[in-house]
Amino acid sequence: MVRAVLLGPPGSGKGTQAARVCKARGLLHLSTGDLLRAAVKDQTALGLKAKGFMDRGELVPDELVFALLRERLRSPASGAGFLLDGFPRNVSQAGTLDAELGARGIARVVHLKLDDEEIVRRLLGRGRPDDTEPVIRNRLKVYRAETSPLIAFYDRRGLLVTIEASGSVDEVAQRLDAALFGRQGGL
Ligand code: ADP
Repeated sequence: MVRAVLLGPPGSGKGTQAARVCKARGLLHLSTGDLLRAAVKDQTALGLKAKGFMDRGELVPDELVFALLRERLRSPASGAGFLLDGFPRNVSQAGTLDAELGARGIARVVHLKLDDEEIVRRLLGRGRPDDTEPVIRNRLKVYRAETSPLIAFYDRRGLLVTIEASGSVDEVAQRLDAALFGRQGGL
């Protein structure tokens, strides 16, 4: 069973790549960004609370995000395994995840590496409502301050594999598949 995390800056292609490998390998794709956007669209109580944080490019409070994730992590559909996309996003969320999973913890973390110039270029081309320049800048700042420490956090545990996120969607997909399932340390 695959229990993996995809880590990387906004615009690194986490969502696209996660959807693709999950479909190909029958994994449950757990995207906190998608779950939050669905809650905002449906105007649930949680979505209404989350919206302002998302519009400003800030992190949504941990308890709201985990409320969306918890049942899904426990759902039987995650039998073949799951790939987390956009979670954890800070060290506190990583601790919550450890506590939730217990002994059957995360076995692999794939870090999609991309330089800042390429990040901004991609996000400005994407045109999601939170993809305006000031909000992108803030998301990058939050990524550096809060999320990037997770790279060292998981590396110390021997779980991290870093892959290059530039190149075509197909090229990155091959790298991700190899990082998750390849012979060198496949799960
Ligand atoms: P990107 O990777 O391009 O930033 P996401 O779809 O992963 O896009 O996230 C969009 C927004 O949703 C984030 O800027 C943040 O406000 C919120 N969000 C997503 N995941 C989390 C999380 N784990 N913790 C807090 N906020 C989150």
